[in-house]
Amino acid sequence: MIRSGIGYDAHRLVEGRKLILGGIEIPYDRGLVGHSDADVLLHAIADALLGAMGEGDIGHHFPNTDENIRGISSLEILRHVRSLLAEKNARATNIDATLIAEAPKLQAHLEQMRAKLGGALACGADRINIKATTNEGMGAIGRGEGIACIATAMVEDL
Ligand code: MG
Repeated sequence: MIRSGIGYDAHRLVEGRKLILGGIEIPYDRGLVGHSDADVLLHAIADALLGAMGEGDIGHHFPNTDENIRGISSLEILRHVRSLLAEKNARATNIDATLIAEAPKLQAHLEQMRAKLGGALACGADRINIKATTNEGMGAIGRGEGIACIATAMVEDL
């Protein structure tokens, strides 16, 4: 069987935080704030994969009230999703994600994010596609107050 899932996430940009997206650090004067490293790309993808597996959402597996996971790398979250996939004898057929950020420009970093994700999910980077767009100056994201991401995933039984 092949099943699809969708994921969405958004975090605020603040001073004094590193900007981590797709498991890599992006040079910028602000970073995303959250209980973990606030990597919106990985959170949206994790939710898409969990959705396709019928496994609820990221908040169910990693509650933001859990002090033990404060500040964790979101790559850990993705590795947990990978182990759930393995338990179910399933794999990601493909993943597609769109980052929505007014700044910084992300295009030059997308390939590195893709390679990082392929490693964390132990699937070929050719199964992963990452895009970046702006919100054309509209709303909170358009004012650069935060970064959002939407992702879809297909999961197939092996
Ligand atoms: Mg999040």
